[in-house]
Amino acid sequence: MPLTTFRQALQQVIEVASGCVLPAEHIALESAGDRILAEDLCAPFAVPGFRHSAMDGYAIDNSAAAPEDASYRIVGQILAGDPPFRALQVGEAVAIATGAMLPDNASQVIPRESAGAAGDDRVVLAANPAAPSHIRGAEDDYRAGELALRAGNRLGFAALGVLASFGMSSVRVVRRPRVAVLVTGSELVPAGAPRQPGRIHDSNGASLRGLLRGEGIEVMPTAALADDIDTIRRQLAAACAGSDVVISTGGASAGVADFMPRLLAELGEVVFWKVAMRPGMPVLFGRVGRCLVFGLPGNPVAVVAGFLSLVRPVLRRMQGAAPPATEWARLAEATAKNHDRLEFRRAHVHVDEHGVQRACLHPALSSGVLRSVLESNALVVLDAERRQWQADELVAVLRYG
Ligand code: AMP
Ligand code: MG
Repeated sequence: MPLTTFRQALQQVIEVASGCVLPAEHIALESAGDRILAEDLCAPFAVPGFRHSAMDGYAIDNSAAAPEDASYRIVGQILAGDPPFRALQVGEAVAIATGAMLPDNASQVIPRESAGAAGDDRVVLAANPAAPSHIRGAEDDYRAGELALRAGNRLGFAALGVLASFGMSSVRVVRRPRVAVLVTGSELVPAGAPRQPGRIHDSNGASLRGLLRGEGIEVMPTAALADDIDTIRRQLAAACAGSDVVISTGGASAGVADFMPRLLAELGEVVFWKVAMRPGMPVLFGRVGRCLVFGLPGNPVAVVAGFLSLVRPVLRRMQGAAPPATEWARLAEATAKNHDRLEFRRAHVHVDEHGVQRACLHPALSSGVLRSVLESNALVVLDAERRQWQADELVAVLRYG
């Protein structure tokens, strides 16, 4: 059977995830950082909402004729937060602070630095309608009802600031997916326990929980499951019943102790198994009821590649996020591959001294060498159809975080 191409696999997982967008929930703005907005949001009123001074200085009505000696009578002082002040008469100035509301007919603020002293209650001001007014308009930021943020936007710090300026203390965001991680493999020993000959410590659990934390999803550590079909069936069914997404590692290939493909077919439905990608070819995807299931192979680098290339886009799509723009880098050196699958190469992506984003490939090709992930910060995508790349060619990159 021909393998599913990576492009088909990505298209299929996104299509399935698009039908599984999670419901919205109302949460405090304080805890909404990095969450995905569930609705379009408009400014509830004009922001800032009133004309105010951009400088500490003196406000005047410069549409009236200036006094002959340019000396104005100071009729008061307005500080930021003060209530509205009366209209100004000819020859009057009012001392005003940055952020303070202007009298209705004030048309210019003359900065304190350009004002000349003229006794206790007078000031000399060179009124000049052509000079900057130092006035901020009532709608400088937003008009009332103007669209500010669209559903699907990630709430970064600037969005949080804008929503706070609208007076919002809570916001409707899409619920985060509930994710369960099932680590399988009879060879696995948890960190902290003694390691017998022939056995290894489980690293996939820790890697996955770290990758998920980068998406704002917390998953509690659980012990690895032995390669026993009944144990895995029971745990998989329970995980699917309580989660939106289950990610398993190990046991996804065709070995005698690899049970994930047949268990997914038995409990639910397989959408695809085996993708023309490297590492991570035996990746399995399907669903059990409403729960999406990724069966990642056990090799530690395949887990990282499968998560970044297929699982992460699904987690984001289930929250209604728009697909991110592809990030590109120039290869620091020529490279080649000897197969027709899409290959993810570990790389260190950085901006060089000319401001060009470059990808330096890590020499490790084995999907078992987790150290190479530690020594890199992104995966470079080498397309299935090609075999050779020149130095300086543009390649797509998937950042780890
Ligand atoms: P599998 O996909 O189950 O055939 O496993 C492929 C390789 O990944 C084997 O060498 C396993 O020992 C290794 N492996 C599987 N699970 C883990 C894990 N949780 N942590 C580290 N290595 C693992
Ligand atoms: Mg195994």
